[in-house]
Parts: sequence; structure tokens; C-alpha cells
Amino acid sequence: MAEQLERRAERAPARFGGLDYAPAPEATDHVKLRADHGLLIGGRWVEPLSGKLFKTINPATEEVLAEVAEAGEEDVDAAVKAARAAYAKVWGRMPGAERAKYLYRIARILQERAREFAVLETMNGGKPIKESRDVDVPLAAAHFFYHAGWADKLDYAFPGRRPAPLGVAAQVIPWNFPLLMAAWKLAPALAAGNTVVLKPAETTPLTALRLGEVLQEAELPEGVVNILTGAGATGAAVVAHSAVDKVAFTGSTEVGKAIQRTLAGSGKKLTLELGGKAANIVFEDAPLDQAVEGIVNGIYFNQGHVCCAGSRLLVQESIAEPLVDKLKRRMATLRVGDPLDKNTDVGAINSRAQLDRIEELVASGEADGAQAWQAPCELPQRGFWFRPTVFTHVAQSYRIAQEEIFGPVLSVLTFRTPDEAVEKANNTPYGLSAGVWTDKGSRILDLANRMRAGVVWANTFNRFDPTSPFGGYRESGFGREGGRHGLAGYLDLS
Ligand code: NAD
Repeated sequence: MAEQLERRAERAPARFGGLDYAPAPEATDHVKLRADHGLLIGGRWVEPLSGKLFKTINPATEEVLAEVAEAGEEDVDAAVKAARAAYAKVWGRMPGAERAKYLYRIARILQERAREFAVLETMNGGKPIKESRDVDVPLAAAHFFYHAGWADKLDYAFPGRRPAPLGVAAQVIPWNFPLLMAAWKLAPALAAGNTVVLKPAETTPLTALRLGEVLQEAELPEGVVNILTGAGATGAAVVAHSAVDKVAFTGSTEVGKAIQRTLAGSGKKLTLELGGKAANIVFEDAPLDQAVEGIVNGIYFNQGHVCCAGSRLLVQESIAEPLVDKLKRRMATLRVGDPLDKNTDVGAINSRAQLDRIEELVASGEADGAQAWQAPCELPQRGFWFRPTVFTHVAQSYRIAQEEIFGPVLSVLTFRTPDEAVEKANNTPYGLSAGVWTDKGSRILDLANRMRAGVVWANTFNRFDPTSPFGGYRESGFGREGGRHGLAGYLDLS
């Protein structure tokens, strides 16, 4: 199958060829990599009691970047105890205006060290430097700034209630936005007065660990945030610990369901941000060139490793051909390759395991009878790569129209009427996000009301802001992150 797609890419018409760019690699010499990393417990970096370490690599080169600790149950217990002590003695009692100062400080240090964080994020995760530089790091800082503002105004955020912190929050995050997801989790938890045990994903631990250094630089009291690296077993131990009061998880639906089963009846508060299979709907009256940019941003941003990615393009039948033609032409100009190059649009796939998943699903699409087209581009020899791909002739029953691929793969379906568009958009077990492209405001409002998605973007896609709540329905999880709704998840409002 891979060979077939390769041949097809070679046969792509010359008119699809992009401009030539000279390499423009970002320097990495200002990022000091440590050979090994401990766990942040009780304000100190400690060796894991488990005695175990694992390697973390650069997915664009397969080079080992560092060794990190694999926290075992004893480490988890120590971290939860440290968080509990910090909650009882310091953080849970601290006036909101004082907590806010720490959050502001963290935000400002992140801004000061932005370049270092962007480069490290790209090295460890494979995403293009222009995304980590312009999206991940600034948004992470914005989340701390925004929540710093709320820390002393919780009574105003929830008038008539007496908002109180919950205690210790266990937070498990994925690998697609490692620093940003850490910020989404930490900032509201801390603003609300909780302490935290955070577990980053096993393939991308380095920016979370460096964020631990920022917390120390900001002189955050010891034990307020504890950072444990490790894989699924570490995450399972963190969320199941009996002294945890709140669990916040972002990752796959399968693991989210397992966590929900573990926590059932425990009284712990839970929020789940899981997968998605978003419909990006384009009507015939939409500005097509603008829509093409939105489609590309929707599915090829961050190699499609985005839970709210617009992975199903629903296009009105009358414009399907010209739109797909424009899309292919635009895809042919995407620059795929070295994520540290400032001109790169699509970087490396995050891990071998994720590449295998993408290849398996793409093969199923071909076997089902859908037609794949891939952007003609040369891929580097080492590392994990997948060409931006679009599938046409897709039926709703195909796995590529149903399952989250979490890669740079778009499935195109068509519709004739708004009702059919809504029906197809909602024909998924997920419900995280959606997009609508049309000239008519009334149609946007109508569709936004009828689509079962937590976020609906109109004539844009993948817009994020700390003030705006984000989250899903059904198999995309429950609870919101961002805005007042996100804060509520870390407070007792009874
Ligand atoms: P995952 O759910 O296995 O991992 C996410 C996080 O959960 C990681 O930190 C992992 O170590 C941890 N984890 C794994 N098993 C756990 C358990 N039993 N208890 C507690 N924590 C556990 O996701 P993945 O395997 O890295 O990716 C698989 C799929 O998940 C992807 O293909 C994609 O569909 C989806 N995904 C979604 C998001 C999102 O933002 N919604 C992010 C990453 C992955």
C-alpha cells in the first residue's frame, strides 16, 4: 500500500509543485539537554524509587535526547503526599491574590524562555517550530496569565456560590500539545487553590520537566506541583490513588473509559477530554480559497495530531470537484520535513506506534474502496513521516470516516442539503468540534445549534483562547477547559 501511494505521489502533476525554499533551521544550541531527569516531588528533583529510567527521542531523527524516570507506585504515593501536605499547609489557605502572583510569574518566565521551550517542544514532539513558537508556547503563557486574573475573583466568577478548592488534582496529559496541555491543566487547578500531581505523556516528557524548572524559578511553594514521568502504568497509579480528589485526563477514549470505570463510586471529581472526528462543513456559498486554508489548518496542523482536527470534510456536492481540486493544489505546496526548519508546515509523526496506527487506518481506507491522493513531497530517510493525504469516494461506513486517525489524513464526503450535512456531521460517536463555512450568518447559527459538538467554528478552524471553554460530548468526554466553565471543574461550588 505504501508503495502504491508513493507511486501515485510521483505521478502528481508538475503544476502541483511548490516553491523552493532554502533551509532555515532554528538553532538548538541554547537548549541545554540534560542526560537524565528525575521526578519533581515536594519541590525537589529526586531519583525514582522504582529505579527505572526510559529513553525519550526526537521523532524526526530517532536520536535519543535524554533518559527520564519511570515513576512507580511508591513514587506516586510520595508525590500525592507532597501535594496533600502543600495543600493543607500552604496553597489551600493562601489568599487568591497571593496565588495570582505566582501564576503571573510563571507566565512571564514562560514568555522569557519562549524560544527555548519552542525548540525543545519541537525536538521532543516533532511539530513544526513555527507552530510551537507561534501557538503552543504563547498560548501556554496566555493560560497562566488568564487564570492568574481569576485567582482572587472566584467569588465574582460564581456569584451567589462559595467556591472552594477540591484538594489534590491528578492530571494526565497526552503527547500532541505537551506544554500547552500542561498549562491547560495546571493554570486553572492552581488558580482555584488546588495542588497537583501531573503526568506527561511518555513520548514527550521534556517540556513538562522544564516547566518544573520554571515553577521552581517562580518560587512556587514546594509540593504545590509534582511532576511524574512514566507511561500508562504510572498514569493509572496516579488517577487511582485514594488521596486524590480530582482527576483530569486528556487522551484516548479507551483510556478515558477505563479511568471512568476505576473512579466510579469513589466520589472523585472527573473531567475527560478525549478523541474526536470533527466534521468541517463547506457550503457552496462559502469563499472557497478561504475555506481551503481552513481545511488545511483543520487537518494538517500539528500533523493532524489534534483531538478537534477537522478530519471529515463535508462538502456540498455542487462544489465538491473544484474544492477538492483547489485543496490538492494547496496541499502540494505544503512543506513537509525537518520540524526545526522555520519554513516547515508539516513535521514528524510523534512516534513509531502512532505512524503504525495511521498506516493501518489508511490501508483500511484503500481496502474499503476510497481513493487516496498524497501531496508530492520527499520524506527524510530517518524518523517517522506521513505525507498529507486526502481520501475521496469515502462512504460513511468506512473506518476512515468513523475512527480517529490522529494523523494528516482527511476523508471527504459530500452532501446536498443542510439537513443532510447535519445528519452526517452528527453520525459519529464523538462530539468535540465542528466547522461551518458559509456566507450566511443564519445558517451558521442554525447549524451550530443542531450539531452535537462542544465547539463549532464558523468560517475559521482550530482557534483557541483561554477565555473560551473547550470540551466535548459523548465519546469525546465531559467537562470543559478554559473560561469560567473550566475553572468550575476545579472548585467545589456546593
Ligand atoms: P493514551 O490515552 O494511551 O495516552 C494519553 C495519556 O494517558 C498518556 O500520558 C499515557 O501515558 C496515559 N495513560 C495511558 N494509559 C493509562 C491508564 N490506563 N491510566 C491512566 N493514564 C494512562 O493515548 P495514546 O496511546 O498516546 O494515543 C492513542 C490515541 O489517543 C490516539 O490515536 C488518539 O486517537 C487519542 N489521543 C487523543 C488526544 C486528545 O487530545 N484528545 C491526545 C492524544 C491521543
